[in-house]
Amino acid sequence: MMKELIKPFACTLCSASFSHKFMLEAHIGTHSSVKSHRCDYCSASFVQKVALEKHLLTHLGKYLFGAPTEKVYRSTIDKGPHF
Ligand SMILES: [Zn+2]
Ligand SMILES: [Zn+2]
Repeated sequence: MMKELIKPFACTLCSASFSHKFMLEAHIGTHSSVKSHRCDYCSASFVQKVALEKHLLTHLGKYLFGAPTEKVYRSTIDKGPHF
């Protein structure tokens, strides 16, 4: 005999249902065109949070591996003009 699993969280967009709210939210994200996870550093936005987190690493990578122009600019200020 099969006992039906209790899945109280039903998708409003299809017939899928889930036993946990976070699973439903993740599922809705997969077939929603609304990109709710936006990057703070640029205009990119993502359906899935993990995609945003991966994207954020590319921004952080600039500071780890690159030579950000901001740093160059600041070192120029540090030398400063003579008072
Ligand atoms: Zn669905
Ligand atoms: Zn970005």
